[in-house]
Amino acid sequence: MRRRPGGDRVTPAAGPGPFPEIVGQPRATGVLGRALSSGRLFPSLIFHGPPGTGKLATALAFCRALICPEGAGHPRDRCRACRRIDERALVHPDVCVVFPETRKKFEEGEPETEGAASLDLQERQAEAAANLAWQVLIDRIRQAIRFLHRRPSEGTRSVLIVDQANRMDAPAANALLKILEEPPPHAVLILTTSSLHALLPTIRSRCRAVPFQLVSRSEITSYLVEKRSMGPEEATLRSGLSGGRIGAALDLDLEEFRRRREDLFKVLEELARRGDPGIVVARAEVLARGAASLEEGLEILMTILRDLLLLGAALEAGPEAAAEAAPGLINYDLAPRLADLAARLGPRGPDLIQGLERTLEAIRRKGNRQLLVEDFFMGLLPGAALPAPPD
Ligand SMILES: [Zn+2]
Repeated sequence: MRRRPGGDRVTPAAGPGPFPEIVGQPRATGVLGRALSSGRLFPSLIFHGPPGTGKLATALAFCRALICPEGAGHPRDRCRACRRIDERALVHPDVCVVFPETRKKFEEGEPETEGAASLDLQERQAEAAANLAWQVLIDRIRQAIRFLHRRPSEGTRSVLIVDQANRMDAPAANALLKILEEPPPHAVLILTTSSLHALLPTIRSRCRAVPFQLVSRSEITSYLVEKRSMGPEEATLRSGLSGGRIGAALDLDLEEFRRRREDLFKVLEELARRGDPGIVVARAEVLARGAASLEEGLEILMTILRDLLLLGAALEAGPEAAAEAAPGLINYDLAPRLADLAARLGPRGPDLIQGLERTLEAIRRKGNRQLLVEDFFMGLLPGAALPAPPD
């Protein structure tokens, strides 16, 4: 699904303790909360877990707790120190955040002004995530190390965050290793990475690992309803499509999703109603022509088929079970139409999902898009044999 550029994502809210704005990460906030309350801080931490689970947001919350004279857990909008440690505008002189970037960008960029100029961290992070060839550069790490060796300007701590630290090249990683071995007493280092094992063992062994996890659908739904004032229908859709990532739930362009889902749903209804291979070819052509968005289209299709599977099983158990299953659907705004379609597909539902998974996998391996989609659609026709695996 297309992301809204510069969406108004904020730190997820709701947990108790010193990190009220972080939701669904009890292990991470537990480790950090205990470190704060015991006063036994680890000088170096690795936040690891899937993208979109709030690692950078938590790193900044931890910075606020460490650096703000008021300590942890106070309302940050009224606090001058905390307001300057913000995802959309970092201006605090004792916090430095480093991202993967290009050498050209580094050379054009501001000379050592970390913390002095306002930095939109969400934007930088999204940019770096979209450009997989970018790296965390040795020169940037050297700059950051100089920052860490200086005394903090305001408080008693300086914090360096290296976002997507698994994308350091070897010289950068080795330079960082030196400061991990002997960090200045006022320094705290936080590395974030989607995979712990993508970092050098020598780096891992000098840091405390803090795990982040995908968040359950129900937690994301209640966060969207309670903290973002969304209706239950929208919240259910967004959480169902988020894959357990708060960031993805907030960024989803719902109007665009509904429009594409409606197109696909009509194709499914048409195919299940009329056994015409000619329609299959025509519809697959339209879908495959959407080139870059084909995978997204198939992912949407997947949510519909998952719902059909759930409803199909419930329908077999009787109308009461079907009514109970409805709130568990991702597309539960379409429940009556889904029930109708599930009844038409009958016991073929599970096989169709497997067929779609194979189709997605083959498209990722750059197979002939249109033929693959055709094969899958053929399986939807009444009385159709299942599509053969695309190998
Ligand atoms: Zn504060």
